[in-house]
Amino acid sequence: MSDSDIQTADAVIVGAGFSGMYLLHRLREMGLKAIVFEAGTDVGGTWYWNRYPGARVDVESLAYSYSFSSDLEQQFEWKERYPTQPEILRYARHVADRFDLRKDIVFRTRVTAATWNDDARDWLIRTEYGEAVTARYFIMATGCLSSSKMPEIPGLAAFKGATYHTAHWPHEGVDFTGQRVGIIGTGSSGVQSIPVIAEQALDLTVFQRTPSYSLPARNRKLRPHEVTDMKARYPEFRQEQRESGAGVPVPIPTRSALEVADAERDAVYEAAWESGSLVNLLSSFTDLAVSQDANDTAKRWIHRKIHEIVEDQAVADDLCPEYPFGTKRPCLDTNYFETYNRANVHLVNLQRTPLVEVTEKGIRTSEREYEFDAIVYATGFDAMTGSLTNVDIRGRDGLSLRETWRAGPRTYLGIGSAGFPNLFMITGPGSPSVLSNMVVSIEQHVDFVADAIGHLREQGLTTIEPTAEAQDAWVDHVNEIASHTLYPKANSWYMGANVPGKPRVFMPYAGGVGEYRKKCDEVAAKGYEGFALAV
Ligand SMILES: Cc1cc2nc3c(=O)[nH]c(=O)nc-3n(C[C@H](O)[C@H](O)[C@H](O)COP(=O)(O)OP(=O)(O)OC[C@H]3O[C@@H](n4cnc5c(N)ncnc54)[C@H](O)[C@@H]3O)c2cc1C
Repeated sequence: MSDSDIQTADAVIVGAGFSGMYLLHRLREMGLKAIVFEAGTDVGGTWYWNRYPGARVDVESLAYSYSFSSDLEQQFEWKERYPTQPEILRYARHVADRFDLRKDIVFRTRVTAATWNDDARDWLIRTEYGEAVTARYFIMATGCLSSSKMPEIPGLAAFKGATYHTAHWPHEGVDFTGQRVGIIGTGSSGVQSIPVIAEQALDLTVFQRTPSYSLPARNRKLRPHEVTDMKARYPEFRQEQRESGAGVPVPIPTRSALEVADAERDAVYEAAWESGSLVNLLSSFTDLAVSQDANDTAKRWIHRKIHEIVEDQAVADDLCPEYPFGTKRPCLDTNYFETYNRANVHLVNLQRTPLVEVTEKGIRTSEREYEFDAIVYATGFDAMTGSLTNVDIRGRDGLSLRETWRAGPRTYLGIGSAGFPNLFMITGPGSPSVLSNMVVSIEQHVDFVADAIGHLREQGLTTIEPTAEAQDAWVDHVNEIASHTLYPKANSWYMGANVPGKPRVFMPYAGGVGEYRKKCDEVAAKGYEGFALAV
């Protein structure tokens, strides 16, 4: 490739989800030339790909939305408390139109490699089509949950019927009427899609390895006064979000679950369950995330609920998770447990009868073969690191990100990694990311990155890169916080446990969105302490 074939930009952004879209807007406003590469054919990221039946967000719409533009906040009309995928995609498209973003986004194009050139002090970024762009700043806005995963079982290609993955759902939808359907996976995507598929399919068999904790979403249309009230107090509400633990303001608990009488504790759980809000239950008491005994009270209470809803008590037993509540991503659902009372729905407990293979006709477990017309894989993602290590990123002296992270991701603040100058990650491992309302975390990271770039330009500097010392200290700090919680007790995707061979490291920062923001603000105020800046 000759030099004339290589485009130049100030920044290359990978991904046009909520992260990449806002970043493009910010960098453009600062006068930078930024190019976004996006594998999909439109904006929206998660909400572009995950079109499975029942797909919804489980943070309320008025809170799961950008705060950077007051006009946008005031003018966009959300319809539901927990909007469906089409509604969130409509929002993403509205944002793209309003800020004229598409003209700088190259769709249908996957970035495959990026190499740092220490002489030119820029990145050479390559796409699947061999195009190349040089840019001083390279930003991976590739999403924590965008690298989808199939189960590691033999015979995946053998099945003669239709195969779907929830994260690559056909845009035209799927009609399961009259079909025998098998679904593998009971995480968020499974929990949301199972009730909807069950209503349509002739017969649905659910293959469950690990049950999920799930609460009824109690979704409904937003009332006009709720929208008006929120729009009137958005500035205060956004500030509360930024200072909160998970990007969703809730009263801070003051009591241990172990210091209240059983009846009172049950009443607190009941109120949280009725509210249709995950954070209400997660923050019912001070110690659910840190004390096994406290957590057991929530666990037993939810088990009781599942046994009340599900008529067949043996099925209810199988649906009760044993790991501590909240240590794997809990779900919000609409009629999930009720669905197991339908005559056309069957649960297969893979802990008792493991998957053996996919066959021409269906799925074989250690017990028997099940025949299907269609198989749905709700098997999730290579979370947090997958979309970063999928790209062959080479930093100083050819250092490979994939290799450097072989024993687990190492970042400073979840934003940068030592040895990779001017590489930024939005909601990377080591930041609150998936433990939070992600739009809040995305905006905070985008603002940090844009401000850091602004600082370099103002000071006549060209590179920024975490120091090894600051990174080591941050990784220790993230691990230290996780070690005081119950998170490491579950085999979760937070721990990389759903990907065979992936190191078991608790990846997100569990210290809370507000605390984390304070730390980032301090770092910036001290001239980007912990980063090496150079001319
Ligand atoms: C089913 C589901 C439900 C969720 N529900 C919630 C929720 O209730 N609350 C919440 O806070 N968060 C939720 N999330 C997390 C959600 O991912 C974030 O809220 C947010 O949408 C992430 O935005 P993003 O732009 O960072 O990443 P994404 O939306 O994942 O966008 C990343 C984009 O990068 C593109 N990309 C990746 N690699 C490449 C490459 N090499 N080249 C080119 N393009 C690439 C992808 O195609 C994708 O479009 C959910 C995620 C899923 C999957």
